Amino acid sequence: MGIVHAIANQKGGVGKTTTTVNVSACVAEAGYSTLIVDLDAQCNATVGLGFDKTVGPSIYDVISGRCEMTDAVVATAVDNLSLVPSSPDLAGASVELPRMEGSEAVIRNALASVREKFDYTFLDCPPSLGPLTVATLAAADRVIVPVQTEYFALEGLAGLLDTVALIQREMNPNLRISGMLLTMHDGRTRLAEDVEREVREHFPELVFDTVIPRNVRLAEAPSFGLPVIHYDPHCAGSDAYFALAKEVAARG
Ligand code: ADP
Ligand code: MG
Repeated sequence: MGIVHAIANQKGGVGKTTTTVNVSACVAEAGYSTLIVDLDAQCNATVGLGFDKTVGPSIYDVISGRCEMTDAVVATAVDNLSLVPSSPDLAGASVELPRMEGSEAVIRNALASVREKFDYTFLDCPPSLGPLTVATLAAADRVIVPVQTEYFALEGLAGLLDTVALIQREMNPNLRISGMLLTMHDGRTRLAEDVEREVREHFPELVFDTVIPRNVRLAEAPSFGLPVIHYDPHCAGSDAYFALAKEVAARG
């Protein structure tokens, strides 16, 4: 039975998609069959893995009941790494889900048909705490929370942790926080050091040892449709995501 990680933070631009794509690629590189499910209507994970966001069945078709998750899985250019693409239509799901009976279980039910086939599944959440994120957290075993090392880093984290606690209580007792991940860390600035210290003081148990540095290769790789370890295997971003994948696997 595979393990399912959601990558969530209601803030945009904190490194959710970058983390989803790159930690998945590192786990796949280690030989585990790995699935990414793109749950954001912006389709950044889909496009960043070299797919067109308007062709073929997407997670929106799965949520709308037009196909099974298994029919939406595509193999990527990376060995052991598959994807369920998103589509811009998914933007409608935030309106449609609240009207659907049992909508909070829609992702969990959809995953049932693929869970056995993949050792690891990573769910790339949209930048909100709306119904799609709730349904995604209700389907996950673990959540990874990327936190950008900038001034407002801690803002919104309390709301996210409350949501996780609510979902644990009401819908998904399996859900656990795998860890908080400091991203886009600029080691040359005092601010980044201060934010890192503050986040580690607030959440001593939760923060991963691995810190993701600000690294231009991480930003360039999606435009080549590749995870960073296939674009520039020896850059600082690749080293960091390899280290993170080990920590994520070790936390179980
Ligand atoms: P989110 O999914 O949370 O909105 P993204 O992963 O898309 O965030 O990251 C936002 C932007 O920052 C993207 O353009 C991405 O390429 C860039 N980015 C993410 N992480 C890094 C990093 N460690 N170094 C440099 N750029 C990064
Ligand atoms: Mg994203």
